[in-house]
Amino acid sequence: MGKREELVIYMRYSNYFMPTYKEVPSEAEVISHQLMLRAGMIRKLTSGIYTYLPAGLRSIKKVENIIREEMNRAGAIELLMPAVQPGELWQESGRWEYYGRELLRFKDRHNRDTCLGPTHEEVITDLVRKEIQSYKQMPVNFYQIQTKFRDEIRPRFGLMRGREFIMKDAYSFDADEAGANRSYEAMYEAYSRIFQRCGLKFRAVEADTGAIGGSYSHEFMVLAETGEDQMINCTKCDYAANLERAEIKGEEGLPGPDNIPMKPLKKMYTPDIKTVEEVTSFLDISEDQLIKTLIVVADNEMVAALVRGDHELNEAKLKNLLDAQVIELASPEQVAEATSAPIGFAGPVDLKIKMVADLAIQGMKNFVTGGNRNDLHLKNVNMGRDFNVERFGDIRMITSRDSCARCGEEIRFGRGIEVGHVFKLGTKYSQALKAIFLDDQGKESPIIMGCYGIGVGRTVAAAIEQNHDKDGIIFPIPVSPFEVTILPLQMHDAAVVDAAEKIYKELIAHHIDVLLDDRDERAGVKFKDADLVGIPVRVTVGSRGAKEGQVEIKLRSQPESINVPIGEASAFVRDKVKKLYDSLK
Ligand code: ATP
Ligand code: MG
Repeated sequence: MGKREELVIYMRYSNYFMPTYKEVPSEAEVISHQLMLRAGMIRKLTSGIYTYLPAGLRSIKKVENIIREEMNRAGAIELLMPAVQPGELWQESGRWEYYGRELLRFKDRHNRDTCLGPTHEEVITDLVRKEIQSYKQMPVNFYQIQTKFRDEIRPRFGLMRGREFIMKDAYSFDADEAGANRSYEAMYEAYSRIFQRCGLKFRAVEADTGAIGGSYSHEFMVLAETGEDQMINCTKCDYAANLERAEIKGEEGLPGPDNIPMKPLKKMYTPDIKTVEEVTSFLDISEDQLIKTLIVVADNEMVAALVRGDHELNEAKLKNLLDAQVIELASPEQVAEATSAPIGFAGPVDLKIKMVADLAIQGMKNFVTGGNRNDLHLKNVNMGRDFNVERFGDIRMITSRDSCARCGEEIRFGRGIEVGHVFKLGTKYSQALKAIFLDDQGKESPIIMGCYGIGVGRTVAAAIEQNHDKDGIIFPIPVSPFEVTILPLQMHDAAVVDAAEKIYKELIAHHIDVLLDDRDERAGVKFKDADLVGIPVRVTVGSRGAKEGQVEIKLRSQPESINVPIGEASAFVRDKVKKLYDSLK
């Protein structure tokens, strides 16, 4: 069990602070948030900002230590960077402009732009450009476990999506692609071990690279219905992807059905008929005979994106196709300016802005589009004759009618909680910040980077989402605030107290993380709290048992219990604890 001793602070509930309660807190929507409040693990200070109470902090520290062990094992080196960062660095990387309002910005007393770090690519790259000049100093991977601040638009679900939260972030620096790939692989492996050791059912899925940018990334998803992320996985091969990223194959170069003649273009008066549903029922056509024209603003340029009526635009894919930094749907005013019509009537014919189209519409003939005039749609529109687009690409969301992009088999949709993210960054930051090294030929090149994050609090919350019942949390042992709890049921019975104390001391001597519930409370209260907090192994000492020299031992995850002689209890419990850890190796 390695360095677990460091974590073991022996506890008596009467001296401890774990304020539990029965009522389901009305502000908490998801079970992990409810249970962390009820089990006395966290308290809210203000929106998205929490105090970790002692028991919550214990779980956090346990996850941190698992992360630390696996990062160290993978060769990463721990350091600690500041939470407060100079705006200048963000201006240099270009993200001061693009990061948006999640970046909390302020001025210091000298009127200098400053921000609270939501992530640390800028700071670490600044360090490395000053300290690393030669290929001989690489590969190197620095990590920290540190408090981040992101002014999330919708903080919710307790630690799952906070504004202030603890993250482990790591940054790798390599001299060549092969090395960068090895660094990525090492982190991927380390992450798999970390989440396995935390007792989570998870999956690594291909992901979009988002605001951090770069070329390749995986998200580690904890499978849970309450997850905010949607993903797909193949029922046959191991392709799995975040919905933003999920590829659609087989539509490239789709030829038009040549034998269908183009019909003459027709104007249709469609008074106040705007949505796909309204248009298709008004014109009596199916959704796949309609093309939606979505107007977006990509880095200050208006662009029209065309997708089939039964498909949804995927903004992340569109952003990649356009190679844009920021993309948002145009406002009603912008739509009116680009199309001379209110929202709902945009179409590609005679549209004067850049147009891109989804691959699925290549083969369409005689379709319906908006007419760029209020209350007007066009029928029998045809590409080539009536309009042209600048580019085609996969810019739509995958649907349940699509099949696996890799093997063509059926796909399945699921939900998950993103607990970790690994990115191959390439040279985005090293180029922007001029982190340059000399290779073995004496030639200058930008360092190749990777970055790797884990949400520590979110991991604890995710463990609870996956492991609970009507009575409370059922902690996987490595994440539980305590490994064992001892419940002496009658604090006025000397035999009970003696037996409990004896077992307590023996377990302490063997470095077991044990909570002795020595409160002068009724048995029911002690049982309820033990179940609520979800401590994996429970030792109950009652008057009758103590008289007979027996205690009752029960796992939180199992319904049945077993009676064990007092003298054997400590060894029995230690064996149970060991087995619980071993099952997660
Ligand atoms: P999300 O899509 O959930 O906002 P992200 O892609 O912004 O996450 P990263 O920038 O990759 O997240 O951060 C690394 C890790 O930090 C995430 O995998 C997640 O576990 C955690 N994390 C990110 N934002 C939050 C938050 N607001 N609260 C708690 N943990 C977070
Ligand atoms: Mg985010």
